[in-house]
Amino acid sequence: MTVPAPTISSEEADARAGLVRWGRSLFERGLTPGSSGNMSVRLADGFLFTPTNSCLGFLEAGRLSRLDADGRHVAGDAPTKELPLHFAFYEARPSARAVVHLHSTHATALSCLADTDPEDAIPPVTPYVVMRVGKVPVLPYVRPGSADIAPLIRERAAAHPAVLLGNHGPVVAGTSLEAAVFAMEELEETARLVMLTRGMKVRLLGAADVADLDATFRLKG
Ligand code: ZN
Repeated sequence: MTVPAPTISSEEADARAGLVRWGRSLFERGLTPGSSGNMSVRLADGFLFTPTNSCLGFLEAGRLSRLDADGRHVAGDAPTKELPLHFAFYEARPSARAVVHLHSTHATALSCLADTDPEDAIPPVTPYVVMRVGKVPVLPYVRPGSADIAPLIRERAAAHPAVLLGNHGPVVAGTSLEAAVFAMEELEETARLVMLTRGMKVRLLGAADVADLDATFRLKG
């Protein structure tokens, strides 16, 4: 007897297509080299994750890791080993629908510098990083894939949609996959500006300007 293929919701089909499309786009622009980086989407009845050791440039919609609402792997390839950091974001931010983690060069460079402010890694050089990710804390180094990252993220993620993992790289949550990717791109581009202008006299936005941006573009997700 042939077992019928499980039917998937249009929400899940869209999420699968989105992960493939955005993964390819991030890879082709050099934002996630090799098999680094991972992404997830929260569905009505579970989660989709990029598989372990997969290259984000060559994801296959039918092989993405499907987890149920309790986080059990139920279909597709085995999920990324960095599951704990994604789940910690979803727990701390009920409005989060997607989490993106990359090893993008400039944000990762900031996560390695000894004099990066651990409470505010990306100074407000332009309005956009304030609008999209706000203040970005740096978390202490934890071995990739270790569940020790979960309490560190839960502590900060309610107030911060983006963090830098110390000596590792950025993680961003969003109210949709697209929003999380856009915020990640803004974070990486701003980190690049910060690195380019390092050692130069930089005129940062003033506290009143940052407060005005916070009030006007209240962050969600
Ligand atoms: Zn990583």
